[in-house]
Amino acid sequence: MEFRALAELCERLEATTKRNLMINMAADFVRQLNEDEAEPAISMILGRSFPRWDQRNLDVSWSTLVTVIRKLTGVDWKSFSSILKDQGDIGSTVQIIFHTSKIRKQMTLLENPLTILEVRRILGAIAETSGQGSRDRKERLVETLIGKANALEAKYIVKIIIGEMRIGFQEGLMEAAVSKAFNIPTKTIQSATLLTGDISEVAQIYKKKGREGILEIGFKVFRPIKPMLAQMAEDPEEALKEHGGRTAFEYKLDGVRVQIHKLNDNIRIYSRRLTDITSSFPDVVEIVRKNIKADECMLEGEIIAVGRDSHHPLPFQHLMRRFRRVHEIDKMVKQIPVKVYLFDMLYVDGESLIDQPYAKRRERLGESAGAMPLTTQLVTDDQELADKFLKRAIDEGHEGLVAKRLDSRYTPGVRGKHWLKIKETLEPLDLVIVAAEYGYGRRHGWLSDYYLGARTDHQRFSIVGKTFKGLTDDEIIEMTKRLKETAIKEEGHKVTVLPKIIVEVAYNEIQKSPKYKSGMALSFARISRIRDDKSSDEADTIGRVRQIYEKQFVRKAKY
Ligand code: AMP
Repeated sequence: MEFRALAELCERLEATTKRNLMINMAADFVRQLNEDEAEPAISMILGRSFPRWDQRNLDVSWSTLVTVIRKLTGVDWKSFSSILKDQGDIGSTVQIIFHTSKIRKQMTLLENPLTILEVRRILGAIAETSGQGSRDRKERLVETLIGKANALEAKYIVKIIIGEMRIGFQEGLMEAAVSKAFNIPTKTIQSATLLTGDISEVAQIYKKKGREGILEIGFKVFRPIKPMLAQMAEDPEEALKEHGGRTAFEYKLDGVRVQIHKLNDNIRIYSRRLTDITSSFPDVVEIVRKNIKADECMLEGEIIAVGRDSHHPLPFQHLMRRFRRVHEIDKMVKQIPVKVYLFDMLYVDGESLIDQPYAKRRERLGESAGAMPLTTQLVTDDQELADKFLKRAIDEGHEGLVAKRLDSRYTPGVRGKHWLKIKETLEPLDLVIVAAEYGYGRRHGWLSDYYLGARTDHQRFSIVGKTFKGLTDDEIIEMTKRLKETAIKEEGHKVTVLPKIIVEVAYNEIQKSPKYKSGMALSFARISRIRDDKSSDEADTIGRVRQIYEKQFVRKAKY
């Protein structure tokens, strides 16, 4: 099918807010797709270049995109910016520029109209371009792709590349549309989506195997399902209140969430993004093989890296070295030993457990786990005991607690209140904004990404992190104005400023990092307050940052 049909559908979806009309239009469209197009087309309508389980990432920067548009249309930077400001949306901006561009008008398009499959093929090529010179090669591929498009197609290709459709058509509506297209109850489609992880795949299965195929989608080992997720809670008190009394508090381990599937001696490990990571963890496979008593099952747990005492966790970044590993795995297994703690069982020997209460699932897990440890747990309704348990978790080097409602079923892919995470945050730092970058999308034209510096001496600052999180839109607008007033250098998207503005920054961890000269980087940094009451000579020092960094190892093992 031509890509134009998809773009036209998106245009019609965007133009209405009538739910039923949207569902009908999408259903008609889905019906016409062939078996190879169903997944790519549905993914793209939902603003994804690839299906959920596919880890590939386009990695196309905003500036590459803008460069390509300018090259293809001859638009100057000023007009581009002003149209973008007007439209507030890059897709519509590109559409207008394409319509008005003389260069585009002179071209004879549509001899070979773009198809949905060709768009996917080029997106795949963009994602797979990596390494040296990849920026240029990506740019050329983006140019090839958008160069083949007419104005309307370009609008949606750009939206897909950015990953933001903003046409008001979300996954839930797509499920309704697929249900309508194939005349299968929405509930069946929804549970198939949960089990496969993606509505686009459900549609693909229907196209290939018909109704039977959909009904067959059940638990199947080696087809991972989306993990249940947790919301935040301030403290154990809030969790007890939310769960109405007794609840299960567990250590929140700072590692990698894994879903382990076993069929006799065949064992596979999946990440939370449902990618197969078995080859990185042969040691875990061995432990599972030796211990788990069930023939066929799906388990969940957390892998953590441990220090030489095999008890205290190592900081997360060391585990990441194992996670991405493809070569010399045996060496890494020795260098960075890991431990797996199990916390859930979703399926065992032909029986689905996801509708059973958590307490029951945990009990069944215990019966099958052999000598594999389960996450340390305290079931209580006593706040004081829970507070002590939290302190103990943190003292032992873990992230905090997860509170799990005892009577809750397992809801794949849902971030609900049945699981609540309680973390201790490290003391915030007062840092200075030393440079900023223009944002993209909605934040285009605003300096919204900030480089954060800690004081060295004599008003020098050393960068320890970067963040675009924490400020409201109004605050960003105000901040942009203030930063522009103190700008000393402008290079591409980056503006270096006088170190005048202090912000309080919260973060999860200080990591060792070659990214900045300081050798350290705050992870998950977010601005918690603008400290206009402080001047830059009151900012925290690099020594202080180092101190906190070191303090992390009092609890954690050092690699
Ligand atoms: P977050 O990633 O911050 O949303 O927190 C949820 C994550 O905590 C899960 O995806 C797991 O990787 C991790 N986690 C650590 N310990 C546990 C536990 N005992 N139960 C469930 N999840 C845990």
